[in-house]
Parts: sequence; structure tokens; C-alpha cells
Amino acid sequence: MNNLLKKYFGYDNFRPMQKEVIDSVVAGRDVFVLMPTGGGKSLCYQLPALHMPGITIVVSPLIALMKDQVDALRANGVKAEFINSSLTPNEIGAICARAEKGDLKILYIAPERFALQNFQIFLRSLKINLIAVDEAHCISEWGHDFRPDYRNLSQLKLMFPNIPLIALTATATAKVREDILRQLRISKAEVFVSGFNRENLHLSVIEKKQALPKLIALLQNYQNESVIIYCFSRKETEELAENLRLNNFSAIAYHAGLEREKRKAVQDKFIKDKVNIIVATIAFGMGIDKPDVRLVVHYTFPKTLEGYYQEIGRAGRDGLKSECILFYTYADARKHQFFINQIEDYELRARAEQKLNEVLSYCDLSSCRKKYLLKYFGEELLHDNCEACDSCLKTKEYFDASIIAKKILSAILRTHSRFGKNHVIEVLLGRKNKKIIGNNHDKLSVYGIVDDFSEDELSSVFNQLREQDYIAKAEGQYPTFSVTKKGMLFLNSNDIIRMEKPEQKEQTKTRAKAGDLDYNMELFEELRLLRRDIAAKENVPPFVIFGDVSLREMAYYLPQDKNAFADISGVGAAKLEQFGEVFLQVINDFILNNNIDASALPIKSQKSTVTKVSPVRTARHSKTKEMILAKMPIAEIAKAQDLAFGTIINHIEKLIEAGEKLDLEYLKPVAVRFDAIADAFEQCGDERLRPVFDYLEEKFWYDELKLVRVILRNFKL
Ligand code: ADP
Ligand code: ZN
Repeated sequence: MNNLLKKYFGYDNFRPMQKEVIDSVVAGRDVFVLMPTGGGKSLCYQLPALHMPGITIVVSPLIALMKDQVDALRANGVKAEFINSSLTPNEIGAICARAEKGDLKILYIAPERFALQNFQIFLRSLKINLIAVDEAHCISEWGHDFRPDYRNLSQLKLMFPNIPLIALTATATAKVREDILRQLRISKAEVFVSGFNRENLHLSVIEKKQALPKLIALLQNYQNESVIIYCFSRKETEELAENLRLNNFSAIAYHAGLEREKRKAVQDKFIKDKVNIIVATIAFGMGIDKPDVRLVVHYTFPKTLEGYYQEIGRAGRDGLKSECILFYTYADARKHQFFINQIEDYELRARAEQKLNEVLSYCDLSSCRKKYLLKYFGEELLHDNCEACDSCLKTKEYFDASIIAKKILSAILRTHSRFGKNHVIEVLLGRKNKKIIGNNHDKLSVYGIVDDFSEDELSSVFNQLREQDYIAKAEGQYPTFSVTKKGMLFLNSNDIIRMEKPEQKEQTKTRAKAGDLDYNMELFEELRLLRRDIAAKENVPPFVIFGDVSLREMAYYLPQDKNAFADISGVGAAKLEQFGEVFLQVINDFILNNNIDASALPIKSQKSTVTKVSPVRTARHSKTKEMILAKMPIAEIAKAQDLAFGTIINHIEKLIEAGEKLDLEYLKPVAVRFDAIADAFEQCGDERLRPVFDYLEEKFWYDELKLVRVILRNFKL
């Protein structure tokens, strides 16, 4: 399995749970997989498909996604096709013929096909080894995306009782899960459920004041990256997109009011990296499977946490660090409230209100946001610090909040628990406004008794009092506050409350996680352009050529020959063959143009992602050593191992560093050249090649300089 994984997908290791699922499928069992978006579900059926003789049938609901998946598989050298309504009968006929001949490994099929008699006959004529039902929640009316066509799939297990069936989804409550198993008639299926914490997603909430400048500053960090910004209304999307364009961003609006064709065109531009920023209503997202969305902004906060989790789930599917930022102002709650008020059914309205309140609580948190979110979905986050939310990343200082807490509690009592947070704070700060004067609150003893805390700081203390249950917010339409029993006890005691020191809310700097590569951004850009050009020529999305993970590794390790290139994650046999040369060309040009000393580059080792610069000796080093001992010229050594000339010199450097005694005399260039270069090293030192290159007026090539350097060093030893 590991060999297949590297050969076809170019990966060295399985993601959590993949191996277990695959083993179970290959053993012939029915399987149910619940894994978050980006967890790597596809591999759970694609790899068994390649391992077993015969063909794997995959049911998938969205035409666009089917095409992307098939494009990606083909780029990896897998014989795959799809059948859906976008094809002509002739095209479908040709694909069926190939399937019957055994010329296909994986066939994607739209669910409505299974209702057709002829199609069933066709299926029975195949040698099927596995049936996969992707987005399996679509079969359940309890799910959020029920598709009547999926009901056809209930027949599958009856038609093919002995063929293993694997159902996969990212969203399923216990109720939906049971429904899926029942509907697909796989009640004995082995169930795999993985955690829902998306570790690579970084969550934060920022205050929506000066929103546009804040947004623009944020987007500066995401030049050329894919970004989704969610807004409340169609109008808002249009306006914001326009504003961003005026600020020189490549942004485009997307909402349900656009013509079908136009919507498709917008999606297409986004997927093909021709536009970076999509400003959308929540209509955007279904049918988008872009793995490299680096930032999701909620410019207006969402109506429910379920929706929020799903929308931020579109960030970072490739596992690389990505940010999710929510702009929060209570004023936006009123926009939602306006629509909620129009729901006629009492129960539905109450439920919608409750859900909105949960979002508000999430925004007000000063404790870990991930913990809260996961708990909401029934999962316990074990660590106290997730290291991936603004609460956990800010440095915390504590202070004695007893006095300020008592002032707040008193103010709530004196205003008879009939007011919201802002009003109470304004009373404490001694503000003058209609509401305060009208209620005679400027006559209260608590009026204006706070002058050592700002409004934002008071707000933070207020939130912490609520989180620690000293005060409680009323359910329902008016967010008034009252003092709890715990609060009353405290008020009449000499206890001390310690609290986190409030700080001006500011976007916390995201900390680079271990494992993030410090790659060369310039080269990354060049590789990205190359990727885009190739993708345009082949008419596939850029991520089908290589994902960001692969490009970053290339821009970090700077592989110079095919062997080193093959070690990059995401480079399998087919892609090595197809794209190796062009990418290597760009990398090697880059090294040359920037005078990078290739011998100082990190080396990617197959087994781990830890980078090594130490003089490790590999099988290839040993081979080079043998050939040096046999006095072979470097060009021949390189050819024999299919490596670059420069790489062989790197080997020699490593060998010498490791203390090998080698006779390099025979490699010396002719005397005039050797002496000139040796003299240059004498003058310039031998740490860097660039000065020597310049000193010699660019008359000698880098590899030759390196060769002479290693001979000189060897000589000195
Ligand atoms: P899901 O369907 O669960 O949302 P995908 O199957 O689309 O997830 O996989 C998400 C991303 O992770 C893809 O870019 C995929 O190539 C990558 N991926 C999957 N398995 C591995 C692995 N074992 N090693 C590295 N990357 C992987
Ligand atoms: Zn956290």
C-alpha cells in the first residue's frame, strides 16, 4: 500500500485513519467513514481501487467535483472516467465500452443513473471490486443536503450483496449516521469516525470597527492567495468587491442573484487562480473543492455555528495553515434578527434565535474558541491551549478584578437587570445619552464611577463575568443581564476574582506552527505561475497539477534532479514523468540566477519531514564514492545515476565533510583554469561562490567553481 501511495499520489505517509479504512475495505468489509473536510477521504477508496483487480464505482453528487477528481486521478496516471449529464450519449457509450473491456480502474457516476434499467444491466456486466458513496449524507432527509436521487442507491447492496461498499461524509450527526447505514443497507458496516478538530485552521474574531481598512490590511498578507469573504446580502457583496478592486485587489462578487452562466464563470475563475478573492453570500461553496483557500473572512457573522463550521471548512483543505476571521459587531445581529422576526412558526423562530445567540456567545469568548466550537459538535478538545485561536495565542496576564467586578454587578442591580451590556457600561463610564437621561440613570450612585477602564476593557471584564457565571444573559430578543446567585454571593463577600487582563482587541499575529516550511517565496511564485500556465494548457484547475504543499516543498528543498524531485510530497511516478523536467528547469534556473549555494540546501529524506543538512551518507553517496575511486569523470558519474553534475559535487562535498579520504587529483580542470579559480578563492575566501564568480568576471560556471573548491578543501585536509 505504501508503494502505491508513493507511486500514484506521491505521498510518503498515510493520514490518520486512512490505513485502517483501506485495510478494512480490502478485507472485503462494508465501511462507513466520517472524516472532516480535507481529512483525505478520497484516498480511502482510490487506493483500494488501485490495489484490487477490477473496477471501482464511485457515486458523487456534484458534476463539477466529479470532473476535478477525475482530472486529478488522470494527472496521477490512473485510468478514471465519469458518467453524468454533461456528456453526450456517444461519449457515455465509449466510456461504458472501456469499462466493459476492463480498461478503467475508477468510474465516477451521478446518482440518477442508477434508476435506469439499461444502466443496471451495464453495471452487472462489470467486474466491480468496490462501490464508494461519497457525500453519503445526501441520502438522508435528516441531513442538511438531502438529494432525492441518492435514494436510488438503496438498491446497490441488493444488486451487489458481495461487493464491499464504502460510504463517506464530513457531516453527520448520530441520527444521520444511522439513517445512512439503514438506507444503504449496510447496518453491519465497520464505522470509522475521526476527530473534527481541523488543526491547521486558525480562528479569530475581530471587532468590526474601521472594518474596511482592517480588511484591506489583512488582505495585504494574502496577495495572490485564494480568499473567500462572506457577506450578508447581494448588495453588500457587490459593493465590497468593488471597493476591493478600487484598492487593487483581484476580487469578484458571487451570489444567487447572478445568472447561472455568470456564476459558473466566477467559480471557474476562482478555481483556475484567475481571480484571488471571492466576495460571496453563503450561496458560494457547494461544488467548490479548492484545496488551497488560505483565508475565509466572515465580514458579517453567520446565523448559526453549524453554518460557520461548514463555511470555514472550505479553508485549508490541503492541510496547510489557513486563517478564519470573523468580523463582529452587535449591530449585525440586528440584520439577522430582522429576518428571524419574520419567521411565522413560533418554534422555528425560537430555534433560529437560540442559534443566533450561540454565535454571539462564540464571538464574546475570551477562552479557547476551538474548544467551544468542538464542544458544540459534541467533541472534547483535550488540551487547554489549542495554539490556533486568538484567545489561546494572546499572551495572558491576570489582574485582581474584584473591584471592577463589583462595580459592574452593582450597576446591573441598580438598573434592575433590564438593560444590555452597552448600556450598563455607558452608565459606569458616565456617558450622557437619551437612554441614560430618560431613565434617570445619571442620578444613580454607580453613574460615572469607572475612569480607569476603557469601554473595550470593560467589555472584556463583562464577558469574563458572564463566562464565569457571575452574571447571566436573558434568553430571547432583548439581551439584558442579571446577577446570578454566584454573583450575589460574591458581591457580599471579600473574595477576590482574578481575571485576564483585557487588551485592546487586535488581530493576533499568527504563530508559525512547527512543520511549516520556511520556503522561498520568490521561487514559490515562479512555480505557481508555471503551474497556472500548465493547467491552462491542459484545461484543468492548477491544483490538479500540484498542490501548494508540493510547491512549498519544492521552494524549500530546491530539488535539482529527478531523484530529488521524486522525494517531494505529491510527486508520483506519472507527475515525475510529465512535469519533472519543466519544474526542475525553473528551479535550476532560479538557483543559477540567484547564486544559491546548492550544497547548503536542506535535503528531503523519504522517511521524515525533518530537514537535514548534516553530512548524511545515502546509498547514492556510496555509489558516487565507488565511482570516484574508479576514477570516473563527474559527467559520467552523473549520467550513470541520472543526477545533475552539481549534485555529484554535492556528494563529494558531503563525503569529504564526513571524513572520507578521496583522491580528487584526476578531476582537476586544466591548469590555467584551475589556477585562476584557486587564485580567486584565495582572494575572496571560499564560503560563498558569488564573490568568486564575480571576481572571475563570470567566465567560469558555478559547478566548476564548486568542483575546484572541493578539490582545494580536500587538499587542505
Ligand atoms: P476530503 O474528501 O476528506 O475533504 P480529500 O480526499 O480531498 O479530503 O483530501 C484533501 C487533501 O489532502 C487533498 O489535497 C489530498 O491530496 C491530500 N491528502 C490526502 N491524503 C494524503 C496523504 N496521505 N498525505 C498527504 N496528503 C494527502
Ligand atoms: Zn484556542
